[in-house]
Amino acid sequence: MALCELCGKTDSLQPVSIEGVQLSVCGHCSKYGQELGNNLKNKAVKKTTINIQPEWRIVDNFSEIINHTRNTKGLTIAEFSALINERESTVSKWQAGIIKPNLKQAKQLEHKLGITLLEKEMEVNNLTPGSKIKNSEFTLGDLIIKTKKRFNIQ
Ligand SMILES: [Zn+2]
Repeated sequence: MALCELCGKTDSLQPVSIEGVQLSVCGHCSKYGQELGNNLKNKAVKKTTINIQPEWRIVDNFSEIINHTRNTKGLTIAEFSALINERESTVSKWQAGIIKPNLKQAKQLEHKLGITLLEKEMEVNNLTPGSKIKNSEFTLGDLIIKTKKRFNIQ
């Protein structure tokens, strides 16, 4: 027994989807929502998995890191370029911040130089259906008021 998320009544609850939000509601309120069957649940899980795939991006101060690493090793741009199998012009542009290494290049640099050039895109990592609702201005309270109005629940 728990509190219905829609009317607050104590009852045995069942999960339903109301306007795309999953709620645990009493038997009376369940008719306002779409019952969540196994198929729906599986679909939701699949979607979440796609959203939390880590997305890698090049750190903002990559040019500083590359420059610093080259200086620390006491290498000229020519020597440094040879070490990492890249053109001197490419390395110069990285150091000046004109172009970013692509993901493949960044991974090779990380591997060969023992540095960190890639970071996980945190916003994407935290994106779940739940946090999406919390982050927006649309709250669960708004939804309940809206839904109550629509169905004339006192
Ligand atoms: Zn209820």
